[in-house]
Formats: sequence, C-alpha cells, structure tokens
Amino acid sequence: MSQFPTPWSDDFIGVAYRYFDLRMNVVPLYRERKTAVNLWHDTINLWNDHSIKIRFVETGDNYWFIMGADSRNPQTNISFFKVLPKSENYERFKKGHEGEAYLRLGIYSEKTLKDSKKDALCNCGHAAEDHDKNDNDACLYEICKCKKFDSFQVRLLKKKKTVTNIAFLDEKNVKDDALAWNCLNANKYSKQE
Ligand SMILES: [Zn+2]
Ligand SMILES: [Zn+2]
Repeated sequence: MSQFPTPWSDDFIGVAYRYFDLRMNVVPLYRERKTAVNLWHDTINLWNDHSIKIRFVETGDNYWFIMGADSRNPQTNISFFKVLPKSENYERFKKGHEGEAYLRLGIYSEKTLKDSKKDALCNCGHAAEDHDKNDNDACLYEICKCKKFDSFQVRLLKKKKTVTNIAFLDEKNVKDDALAWNCLNANKYSKQE
C-alpha cells in the first residue's frame, strides 16, 4: 500500500463497452482528445497491468463503475468512479467479458444534422436524410417520436492495457472488496448525513 491516499475522479462522461481487437473493451469517455491523451500518459500508462482492478457495484437501476491500480508513481495516481444507468451494452459486457478486457480511453462527440452525412444514423434509428432541416431537424417518419437529429460517435485511442481483475458486486458485499469499499466510503457514505 502506498502512503499517498489516491484521489478519486468522476471527471469523465461515461463508459462505453465495445467488442474490438478480439476482446471486450472498457472505454471511459472524454470530450477532449487532449484530456484523454494526457491522462493516459500521466496516470494510466504508469499502472502495473496485473494490479488494475475494475469493480461494478449495482444499486437498483444504476451501477458504480470503479477502477484503480498501483502506479509506478503514486504521487500522480488517480482512481476512477462514475455512477451510471445500467444499459444494454453494460449487460452485454457483464455476460460476455469472461474475466478479461482491454482498457482504452475514448473520445465522445455529438454530431448535429448539419455536420452529418446523409446516411449517418440518428439515435432514433433513422438516417440523417430522413430528418427535416425545415422542422428543427425532426424525424420525417410519422411513427417516430424523434424531434431532433442526434448522433454520437466514439473514437478509441489505440493504446490499451489488459485488465484481468474484474468483479461485479452487490452493494451489501462491498465491505469484502478494498477498492469498492474505499470508493463508496469516500464518495457515498461519508457524504451522507
Ligand atoms: Zn431522429
Ligand atoms: Zn426517427
């Protein structure tokens, strides 16, 4: 154990789960490429691969994403957490990870109708060309409730680390897991009155 308490950061948008390079990838998302590149260089790159732990603690419809590791430079180390709604991709990862994943950082960007190619898909499932510029970019399909074209893109940075210590926990069992317990203690229990 290091003598430096590792600070917690939830300063990212969310986590994507992608099948890529023959393995599931866990991808914390950032808006700015520069932020992600610097974070990789200053923190994650210094992690010892075998010490990286990812924990998922489910609480109702949400889950806590928790990630930390031993660093070759404990002074600059950071641990990560984020409370996120359970999603299809999360459930797919939970079922399919087989105890291993690649950790990569990703850049998340949203695209408006104006910046999108005709065949780009909106989150409603219909293409950009099926949305009406003259009606606030609403979807033209009558059965569709989409009022505004909205599309997002995730680009993965190439650098990756292999994670082999992954666990899904119930909140009632977090005391048995040092990383999950430290996280909930610091970011939930100590903040409740
Ligand atoms: Zn749409
Ligand atoms: Zn639509």
